[in-house]
Amino acid sequence: MQGRIVKGIAGFYYVDTEDGIFECRAKGIFRNQKVKPLVGDLVELEVLSQEEKEGSVISILPRKSELIRPAVANVDQALVIFALSRPTPNLPLLDRFLIMMKQKAIPTIICFNKSDMVSEEEREHFRQIYRDCGSKLLFISAKKGEGTDAVRDCLRGHMTTVAGPSGVGKSTLINHLVPEAEMETGKISEKADRGKHTTRHSELFRLEKDSYILDTPGFTALEPEAMEKEELRFCFPEFDPYEGSCKFQGCIHDREPGCAVKEAVEDGKISKERYESYISFFRELKERERRRYS
Ligand code: GDP
Ligand code: ZN
Repeated sequence: MQGRIVKGIAGFYYVDTEDGIFECRAKGIFRNQKVKPLVGDLVELEVLSQEEKEGSVISILPRKSELIRPAVANVDQALVIFALSRPTPNLPLLDRFLIMMKQKAIPTIICFNKSDMVSEEEREHFRQIYRDCGSKLLFISAKKGEGTDAVRDCLRGHMTTVAGPSGVGKSTLINHLVPEAEMETGKISEKADRGKHTTRHSELFRLEKDSYILDTPGFTALEPEAMEKEELRFCFPEFDPYEGSCKFQGCIHDREPGCAVKEAVEDGKISKERYESYISFFRELKERERRRYS
């Protein structure tokens, strides 16, 4: 039988199958190999007890992707949630997240929640900033259930990691999308918690067949992977159409004369906020490089 590992605690793997969730141990063979089952893995399992829903993981199907923090396999997109108000969106943090996902080549959907708390002008303000950032943009109200069908459509058929700072309405949205999320968690923990301590771990929730979301903890400590500052500009898709049109080859769009990107910013073709964000990250990388070599 095949299934998807939705949770792993203290050597037990919880595998979602057509027959429900099985509590599994990994077969001994894994101990001799470097590969260890991860949340998100599609696995082959051997049923030990249909009654007790117990089994063994006997093999892992080939992975499409692997994230390290959180350790999860097969994630193919990210949904990042920010509130339009309370808390006001931390755009540098959002941009940092977009850079990270771009580095990992994981497509991102930006979801602005609490739309009900702001005016259309304010929504338009954020829509303009992110219009060409390469991510799909959604404006929703999780509390009122507005726009959540569009979220559901985006998630269909995907393994999505859901991230966002606290207070933005992440739980509200997840509970709206997966009403049994809490129930299901309780069900799994009952078996898993027997005499074992629980820590914060990644858990997949099933939305529908072949659609899962992963609640990603620890959002505030985002650290894009090391990269050359000269590569940063490729993490800003709005620059792409102008790449190669600057006067100098390899222009990093900072202080060079005849820079097509800066011209586009002045003409309002590239959002000023995103450009300034680029410059600020560029300086940060430059500073890091300076410290590395001094
Ligand atoms: P989390 O920390 O990201 O999981 O955020 P919660 O889901 O716990 O929500 C934080 C607060 O924001 C709660 O008081 C929610 O009721 C409220 N909230 C969530 N979504 C919305 C929304 O769409 N509109 C408004 N006005 N409040 C919301
Ligand atoms: Zn340039």
